[in-house]
Amino acid sequence: MLEDYKEYDKIIYKQMENAISNNLSHAYLFDLNNNVYAENMIMAFVKEILCKKHISKEEYDNCSKCKRIDDGNYSELKKIYPDGLVIKKEQLDELQKEFSTKALESDKKIYIIYDAEKLNLSAANSLLKFLEEPGEGVIAILLTNNLNSVLNTISSRCQILKFNNSKIEDFINYNNINSKVTIYKIAFSIFLRTNIDEYIENFVNSVIDFWKTYESNGKKMIVYEKQYFLDIFKEKEEILNFIRCSILLYRDVINYKLNNKILYYNDYEDILEKISNKNALNRLLYKLSILLSKEKLVSKNVNVNMFVDGIIIDMEE
Ligand SMILES: [Zn+2]
Repeated sequence: MLEDYKEYDKIIYKQMENAISNNLSHAYLFDLNNNVYAENMIMAFVKEILCKKHISKEEYDNCSKCKRIDDGNYSELKKIYPDGLVIKKEQLDELQKEFSTKALESDKKIYIIYDAEKLNLSAANSLLKFLEEPGEGVIAILLTNNLNSVLNTISSRCQILKFNNSKIEDFINYNNINSKVTIYKIAFSIFLRTNIDEYIENFVNSVIDFWKTYESNGKKMIVYEKQYFLDIFKEKEEILNFIRCSILLYRDVINYKLNNKILYYNDYEDILEKISNKNALNRLLYKLSILLSKEKLVSKNVNVNMFVDGIIIDMEE
């Protein structure tokens, strides 16, 4: 329910409430600001537009229409993701074709464009026309984490709403979800797109497993590491994600050592304890600094084997 998000971003909440009860714009551009709960809040907004304002949590939880919206089985809602690195004109053309007929299930139709900064020029041109003459009841919702890169011609035609930066603790407490998924989302500031939960579980398991093996093998890890980087952390993006999850892990080991609150790996206290016992605080800080410096390196074109060897060798220095 939208109301559940009242405390998380009061300004956006007010703007959304106001839109629903008074007048909806035909185009919104959300600056997500890497806010981890933004997508959930936007989906709650979408459901109030397409379905209704639910009176109670019970009504909302049992609403079959909202369930279909969540599951992607609702014809009046379409989501568009970048196809590779860009959003292509064909995707916009297809959308407009689908949305040219009258809404059947509701008097509104909504399309959501993820990573709106990735609209290439011809896609943007196609979208411009649609933004100007959207057809009856059609509402555009554009999302970006990079507002400055969205083409001006697009952003000037939308109402722009900016999210706060979220507090990580709020997010964890609020969602009460599988902590591996939480770690993953925080590490990458991404949306959960489709059902990638299993992939995420395996991914975070592998990160934990990697560092467990490293902490008990030290330099010998160079022998074992290949299997991880050949099988699991293959692509550049995955290597970057590996580094980010690892940064969060070592931050938490440091939190553990200092008796601070564990922020991310709450369910893995035994591992935090093990790593903490093996390392003096200055060693942990040193390892964290290595990981932080490697994060910057990943975006450059590096040889994966040498890159990974480098992490272990630098850490063992
Ligand atoms: Zn509903």
